[in-house]
Amino acid sequence: MKKALEIRIRGIVQGVGFRPFVYQLARQHRICGGGFNDTEGVLIEAEGDPADLEQFVRDLSDKAPPLSSVMSVETSDRRPAGRTDFVIEKSRSTGKRLAFYSPDVAVCDLCLSEFFDTADRRHLYPFITCINCGPRFSIVSDIPYDRGNTAMDPFPMCDACLAEYKDWTNRRFHSQPNACPVCGPRLSLVDASGAPVPVPDGRIAEKTVELLKGGKIVAIKGTGGYHLAANALNDTAVGELRRRKRRPFKPFAVMTGSIGAAERMAVVSPVERELLLSRERPIVLLKEKGELMSRLVAPGLSYQGLMLPSTPFQHNLFSIDPEMVLVMTSGNVSDEPIEYCDETALARLGRIADYFVTYNREIIGQGDDSVLYVVDVKPFFVRRSRGYVPVPFLSSESPRTILAAGGDLKNSFAIARSRYIIMSQYLGDMADPLTYAVFKKTVDHFIRIFDAEPEVIVSDLHPGYLTRGHAEDMASSGRRLIEVQHHHAHIVSVMEEHCLDGPVIGIAFDGTGYGTDGALWGSEFLIAERGSFERAAHFSYFPLPGGESAIHDVWKIGLSLLHGRFGRDYPFMERDERSAGVIEVIEKKINSPLTCSIGRIFDGVAAILSISRSVSAEAEAAQLLEETALRGKPPARPYIIPFPDSDPIVIETDELTGYVVSLMEQRASVGDIAAAFHASIVRTAVDVAKRLRERTGIGSVALSGGVFHNRILLSGMMEKLGAAGFTVYTHKAVPCNDGGIALGQVAVAKELLKKVGL
Ligand code: ZN
Ligand code: ZN
Ligand code: FE
Repeated sequence: MKKALEIRIRGIVQGVGFRPFVYQLARQHRICGGGFNDTEGVLIEAEGDPADLEQFVRDLSDKAPPLSSVMSVETSDRRPAGRTDFVIEKSRSTGKRLAFYSPDVAVCDLCLSEFFDTADRRHLYPFITCINCGPRFSIVSDIPYDRGNTAMDPFPMCDACLAEYKDWTNRRFHSQPNACPVCGPRLSLVDASGAPVPVPDGRIAEKTVELLKGGKIVAIKGTGGYHLAANALNDTAVGELRRRKRRPFKPFAVMTGSIGAAERMAVVSPVERELLLSRERPIVLLKEKGELMSRLVAPGLSYQGLMLPSTPFQHNLFSIDPEMVLVMTSGNVSDEPIEYCDETALARLGRIADYFVTYNREIIGQGDDSVLYVVDVKPFFVRRSRGYVPVPFLSSESPRTILAAGGDLKNSFAIARSRYIIMSQYLGDMADPLTYAVFKKTVDHFIRIFDAEPEVIVSDLHPGYLTRGHAEDMASSGRRLIEVQHHHAHIVSVMEEHCLDGPVIGIAFDGTGYGTDGALWGSEFLIAERGSFERAAHFSYFPLPGGESAIHDVWKIGLSLLHGRFGRDYPFMERDERSAGVIEVIEKKINSPLTCSIGRIFDGVAAILSISRSVSAEAEAAQLLEETALRGKPPARPYIIPFPDSDPIVIETDELTGYVVSLMEQRASVGDIAAAFHASIVRTAVDVAKRLRERTGIGSVALSGGVFHNRILLSGMMEKLGAAGFTVYTHKAVPCNDGGIALGQVAVAKELLKKVGL
């Protein structure tokens, strides 16, 4: 008895070898009918034995080609038409198309074996790729995804490449970046002045290894921009890179040639191993095994960012010396965006790099490496970029095309169109003018390549945010502007990832976020739904002397905390002219906005404990406090900060400061104090959540905010909340920091638009 189905497949299913895959799968399962691309994805009419059909439908998502991303498979029954073969039909277009591109992924095994095969016509050709691997997002300039709308446009295919491109049984069928040494892009090696370094053909990798081992810094043009490479085992080289890059603290990522080499440097769990070897090839933060690398790679930190080679050229470098360990950090000066334009690279990076390995193909969609870490076998994003962007999130139908600008720190923006939400790559901090320029340019780029002219613009509430200014500019031409509170956006981004409508108890432990009362929030317990929230609890306010610039002078925050608890008779921190000035600023309320940010409390406590006085990067002091806590032991019975049964509940920050000082007076070790401080926050937060559950009956908790990058806090909260019977939701596909808020902004806006019937 034959059965027939219409099968609708949504996601990234075009330009990734999906139709040949469907054809082969249909043959394999004796399915008749046909399939074609249309504006919504792929549509298949299939008929066959019920068991065969069932297996066919399952395999459509389970065995889909590597670069596809099947987001939904919907089937509906049809009457069998008695078809006797399976055909791939012409594409059908019905109106506006939804364009999707796959991300840039690592070279595949088949291409890599050809790359190292001396008999292959692409032997050691660094731009070898196929339908299953290589660059995509970074080379797209416009829709539709045809070669003419990519950075490959200046490279017409030779006959041999064209034959592969046209043969649908070939791995390079319709592979837009298809190229070979005859027709494709070329690599070159130049010195810092741009003069070519004379190297025999095909020997650039060997020469590069020689330079790196000789202590030189080499800028290497990768997928989304330049990396700065240096020998990670050489103190002088790494120290010089830090000095020239003006980056005293922030850790550098390293690259090893193989998973085996990675395992010699760091502890690698099965989940971490899988991430390292995935085609996305992110940087994974791993616990270092010993002092194998230069101490200057990640000073004072026990976790080290590590990645494996993803491009053919990187593989080539490590084939020459498999034991090499390279610093591979984004090619930029301090907080500027990653360098990706050949015209400016030499001028900007020429003061840092001694040599450049570059190539004559333009990078259109720039981007940094993605960064993840694993806590309790779950991967979490620090930065979602290369390998993951622009895979869309499947969501509910959006009533309008929406652009959400995100925030000013660690920016990533989002576009909602139809049933999809697309997040941009990590763009960085808007305080840097070049980064702001890249933000504006990337917004325009996304609108073009996703054919998504926005009708509604969303921004953060913060009046000083440049992203908000840009959102207002965009909205001035008659588009609706919706403002979303920062921590509401954080919590709803978790809800969106888990398809929750709420209400939930949202806990946002954060650095900075503008509150509805004009204060800087950041220790928020929100009873949140998608469209609204109530502020149910937070830590008490304390002044931030000097405003948000205090995130660099954390000693001022320490002083503010001590002054809040002890007044002018504060212990442990110095009393000199500078501190007297800060006290005066606090008491006279001059440029001292109020905050209740947990991130700032971490900074202040790090200063009180003399772990850090001033820092070069936001959250650096907090990171060192966590690092210190890892060396200590928390008390058997952590201190729970008493809190009143008020609405909202206000947890006294002074009590926490007093507790830290009392431990210092008892001469506890700094590690033990740091550990006790962490435990106290975890236990207090869990008790507050319990109280809110008693009041509201809500048993679901969503955790977000950049402070949850702290492993002790994150795993402590997940464990203790779970033990208290809560269902705990955490981020899985976007970062908990401000890189994730655009997803929440979009979801809030959709809900508000639905409410007003738009
Ligand atoms: Zn390949
Ligand atoms: Zn060719
Ligand atoms: Fe935030």
